Amino acid sequence: MGGYFKKAKFSIMRLPISTCVICTLGMCQLASLPIQAKSVGDRYFPNYHPTPHTAKLPDWELIENLKQKTGGWWPTKSVEKWRGNQLVSITRGDPALMEIALSFDDGPHPPFTQKLLALLKRMKVPATFFLVGWKVDEAPYIPRLMLKDGDVVANHTYHHFDLKLVPPELAYNEISLGNDAIRRACGITPRFFRPSGGQFDPAVINDAAEQHLTTVLWTTDPADYVSPGKGVIMHRILSTVRPGSIILLHDGMQQTYDILPTLVKILRSEGYRFVTIAQMADHLIAQREANEEQMDGNRSGSTLSLDHQDKIQHRY
Ligand SMILES: [Zn+2]
Repeated sequence: MGGYFKKAKFSIMRLPISTCVICTLGMCQLASLPIQAKSVGDRYFPNYHPTPHTAKLPDWELIENLKQKTGGWWPTKSVEKWRGNQLVSITRGDPALMEIALSFDDGPHPPFTQKLLALLKRMKVPATFFLVGWKVDEAPYIPRLMLKDGDVVANHTYHHFDLKLVPPELAYNEISLGNDAIRRACGITPRFFRPSGGQFDPAVINDAAEQHLTTVLWTTDPADYVSPGKGVIMHRILSTVRPGSIILLHDGMQQTYDILPTLVKILRSEGYRFVTIAQMADHLIAQREANEEQMDGNRSGSTLSLDHQDKIQHRY
């Protein structure tokens, strides 16, 4: 417990003063928390502003410079983590496959979400939705529509708290409450989790893994949540996309909605296929199994050859 309070205290020190005070939420279950202030999520949260996202806007100029120097950023390390055969976290899919996954965070956001779902359906693009639990409870019919369309419904916590800033017990519960909300709405248990606000540490990933969830990060974040302009979003995506990209988008953003038909058309013309995170993860799992079989084959092959040598040696 000592470590727990130490962690909480350290987290408070890192908090910007502008972050929301918990009492503005009026949520009784949070009143007893030892931390007085915390980051509480995104723009849709009642009485909440400004967004923590805005404060963490990437330095695009710096990124552009780096890209020119390095030929483009692409995760080469720590892209996937395994615990035995359990896929604990992914940053991208198999780079050998021309696959792209569109992911939409922070929904459901009716009636916008239905409009987005209809567009994706028309384009035959499956997507993955990381849903906020309390919004699912308010619109449980939306995850059902998503499943009907072949989209993947995934967990984005219950309250959209920054899980690095809350006590460990609450972080774990935020994830399980998110699962519960989705289960109540559509009867499925999610396979995937994305930390709210993109804030995570090894403990958060571990909390999710213990609940049999794969944490999903991303390769491409055009920061569409601040509505930077359609051209900017398009440029940021097209200039960073690679085989296996996971594109981080947000439900409820008109500019994102507007560029989708053109974006899909361009990426398809370049040979990309759109897949869900589930399909992407399945391909990674299949690839790993194939590699293991090959390694086993090599091992048994070398055993055979040793046996063979043994026989040869005995013969003489
Ligand atoms: Zn979010």
